[in-house]
Amino acid sequence: MLPQKIDRYEIKAELGRGGMAAVYKAIDPRFKREVAIKILPAAFMHDAMFRARFEREAQTIASLEFPGIVPVYDYGDENGQTYLVMRYMPGGSLADLLKQGPLPIDEVKRIFERLASALDYVHSKGIIHRDLKPANILFDLHGNAYLSDFGIVHLADASIALTGDALIGTPSYMSPEQARGDGDIDHRSDIYALGAILFEMLSGRLPYEATTPMGIAMKHLIEPVPRILAVKADLPAACEDLIARAMAKERDKRFQTASEMAHALEAIAVQAGASPSKTLTPAAAPEVIPAPSKPARPVTPPPSQPSAGGRPITPLPVPTLPPQPAAPARLATPLPVPAPPSQPGGTPAPARPASSPAIARPQKKKIPWTVWTLGGAAILAIILCIASAVGGGLWVAFNPSATPEPTTAVNLAASPTPPSGDANPVLTTSTAPPLGGVIFQDDFSDPQSGWSTYQGIDGLMNYEAGSYHILVDVPNTWFWATTEVKLADASIEVQAEKVAGPDDNVLGLICRYQDDNNFYLLLISSDGYYGILKRMNGSMTVFGDGMQYSQIIHQGKTSNTLRADCIGNTITLYANGTRLAQATDSTFSEGAPGLIVGTYNTAGTDIVFDNFIISEP
Ligand code: ATP
Ligand code: MG
Repeated sequence: MLPQKIDRYEIKAELGRGGMAAVYKAIDPRFKREVAIKILPAAFMHDAMFRARFEREAQTIASLEFPGIVPVYDYGDENGQTYLVMRYMPGGSLADLLKQGPLPIDEVKRIFERLASALDYVHSKGIIHRDLKPANILFDLHGNAYLSDFGIVHLADASIALTGDALIGTPSYMSPEQARGDGDIDHRSDIYALGAILFEMLSGRLPYEATTPMGIAMKHLIEPVPRILAVKADLPAACEDLIARAMAKERDKRFQTASEMAHALEAIAVQAGASPSKTLTPAAAPEVIPAPSKPARPVTPPPSQPSAGGRPITPLPVPTLPPQPAAPARLATPLPVPAPPSQPGGTPAPARPASSPAIARPQKKKIPWTVWTLGGAAILAIILCIASAVGGGLWVAFNPSATPEPTTAVNLAASPTPPSGDANPVLTTSTAPPLGGVIFQDDFSDPQSGWSTYQGIDGLMNYEAGSYHILVDVPNTWFWATTEVKLADASIEVQAEKVAGPDDNVLGLICRYQDDNNFYLLLISSDGYYGILKRMNGSMTVFGDGMQYSQIIHQGKTSNTLRADCIGNTITLYANGTRLAQATDSTFSEGAPGLIVGTYNTAGTDIVFDNFIISEP
């Protein structure tokens, strides 16, 4: 319902809502003028320290006076509701404008020159916007562009430190250093965002697209700067270099000021026939002021992670997302119908090597690990796939209990795997090498970080108390969830704790996921078995001599730190810092990482994942 009044301001209409606030058109009776009022979440003002900080920040924002900046007139709080009063911008936002498609280059140049000098002015005051995006670029009646929402993200960060809510940010324009959660953001993050905005203004497309914020943020981190000419071939060729420089992963390689970038754009536009600008202010290096440190989120490194050393655990800032629909749609996946499995009987399925008598588990059924081909309508009927409400990573369930088929195509050296019957595989394993730099990590404290959620009679996948939870509550079914970004070489690590269900289960990591039918699986079970598998064209193959047993794996209701190194042709599985298995295969050279949980004959595998980290090899 529309609030009628806040302080003296009479609210007339809602202008829109962003991730964290609602903006209303209102009348200020004192000056008899229209204003826009942004009402921030009530949680903002619960803390006295935050209130003091808010006032300081609001004063700074209100002190920004420059032609291309939406002026802030007032701020305050009433009944715990914090608000900012600013000039009403009747011309809509750049986001609205871009809905109609890309803009001509001379129009882009005109908008940019105004924004660039405004941004340099603000940077010279030591203020970083942190959330530059088309929705924060507003127009007056004459089509002049203005930057809005300076400092709002900073304020939001402060509130998050207090409330523990999701971090705010917009991944579509987010610099790699912001996506990484670096504490020392400087004005060049805004330059990067400006580069991403320029890409969209010229081409009508976002530089990186994915269906989850996490996917987009990861692309900003690791994918090469996209080629704008591949999207819009009729642009001047020099646009490509301009975008590449503005969006350079290393900020030293970017334009160091917004005006420098606007000058480069002007040169291209003039060459393309636009009239030269008279108003562009000369590029002046802004005073570089150390960025205020970002409030750290309390994330404790995994206890049993010797290889992690002192690596800081930085969460990936993830923006707030639109509210999810109540029940995520569950699609009965029309997966390609696999070829019917060859009849068993001719060739015996290669048996898992006999376990050591000391282990005394020969009766354990591990036959399913050999090769599986999904086939038949009955099996397809339980192949399920949903797209999450946030368009998130895919999850799929399938029934692995199809007819076993002998492995023929793949027989890759499992080296070194414990020799068959070895009661003490520790002797033949080696310690995990240290991890490289963190590319991405998720401690699952933000329930909107992009992993799929699902709830059904067959199980669930959800965020729970700072972890990601997968319960498979029907027999012979596996669920998995993947991120969206394709990686070539990477180490993927996660802590996986069995909280309930049978030990005769399966859990682990996925790498190089291509689609539902093609990826690698690096698995353990809660009764101490492990293996590296490949799912190719819907068939599963276990590398080497089938599933092996290792005492390295913590059994029962406990936690294991799992790591998958998928580097070049080598796929390596580690548990608890020790290498368990290695396979050589070149079928998939890149793909998405993910998590997997499954059951055999007993339902109820209940696994909680935490501290998912992707590192450079
Ligand atoms: P975020 O929450 O990530 O900043 P956002 O910028 O879309 O996202 P808001 O800043 O809350 O969200 O703005 C919500 C809507 O209000 C936007 O659609 C914007 O166009 C409109 N709006 C914001 N400020 C003004 C203003 N001063 N005058 C007119 N409309 C405005
Ligand atoms: Mg905004």
